[in-house]
Amino acid sequence: MNDWDRLFAEDCAGIAHEAPFSFPSRCSIGCGGSARAAFFPENLAELLLLVDVFRREEVKFSVLGNMTNVLPPDGMYDGALLFTDGLKSIGFGKTVFAMAGVRAKALLDACVRRGRTGAEFLAGIPCSVGGAAFMNAGAGGRYFSDIAESVLVYREGRIRVLAREECGYAYKKSVFMAENTVILGASLLLDRAAGETVERKRAEYLAARRNLPSGRSMGCIFKNPPEAPAGKLIEGAGLKGLRVGGAVISEKHANFIINEGGATSADVRALVNLIKNAVFAQYGVELEEEIRYL
Ligand SMILES: Cc1cc2nc3c(=O)[nH]c(=O)nc-3n(C[C@H](O)[C@H](O)[C@H](O)COP(=O)(O)OP(=O)(O)OC[C@H]3O[C@@H](n4cnc5c(N)ncnc54)[C@H](O)[C@@H]3O)c2cc1C
Repeated sequence: MNDWDRLFAEDCAGIAHEAPFSFPSRCSIGCGGSARAAFFPENLAELLLLVDVFRREEVKFSVLGNMTNVLPPDGMYDGALLFTDGLKSIGFGKTVFAMAGVRAKALLDACVRRGRTGAEFLAGIPCSVGGAAFMNAGAGGRYFSDIAESVLVYREGRIRVLAREECGYAYKKSVFMAENTVILGASLLLDRAAGETVERKRAEYLAARRNLPSGRSMGCIFKNPPEAPAGKLIEGAGLKGLRVGGAVISEKHANFIINEGGATSADVRALVNLIKNAVFAQYGVELEEEIRYL
């Protein structure tokens, strides 16, 4: 795309955007350079318009939620980012419909108010519904796929409802990882319950997370292989506390890399590769990243 000015002035006129867009303040690990532009559609119509324009103009783009599982490049991302923050309505009916930009906390606040249980395991995960549907986020043995009745997507120029069975869900995996689909929202199967019960369960899930490291991170870097939790393997390989630049393997939980200040994405990638090599050398186990590279 050479004619970004025309894109802003004509096709996407009036839609909130920042150009260029700096990554470190927005992504949870606080690394990276910048993107050509980031757009913040306020509603579904704006989001769909942007996707259509980007596809027509062959602009590279990436849809992002809260950027808590994405490592951006250090240089320039030569494309557009499309943040779902503006899509934040929640509807309560037979199922609970939440748009892609709804944060887990907002969803759970609404569930407490309206008396719906089942999503409490999302407490403390800093995700959007779109990000959770894409990543099949989970905690305490429960996953997004356990509560998803269907996912609303924009694919090949059409809005479609995909039943859970069509979403290819498995451990930290979805069909969306392999194809170019924009997630618009999800219908969740949540039972009725007293608000106090929902609040109590949410507090239990939050309490179970209190020993997780604080600081800027992307949560767990690697998926847990069948052999053992990734954190145990990394710890067993003696890697806790290992540092590359400003990026450090957490002393509290070895599957977390913390940006202690000034880390570049290259520092994080170098640490990721060091971990993979060391764990393979010691245990013959190939760790696979959970995080996504932009
Ligand atoms: C402190 C911390 C703790 C964490 N704890 C957990 C945990 O307990 N369990 C867990 O599973 N994860 C955890 N995570 C990781 C992360 O929060 C989850 O993976 C979450 O689902 C990502 O949501 P997000 O909105 O931030 O998505 P992003 O990071 O913005 O995006 C993640 C991926 O989803 C895609 N995506 C996002 N929205 C859309 C959309 N609308 N349409 C199409 N594609 C989309 C993006 O392109 C990207 O590839 C943690 C992260 C942090 C920083």
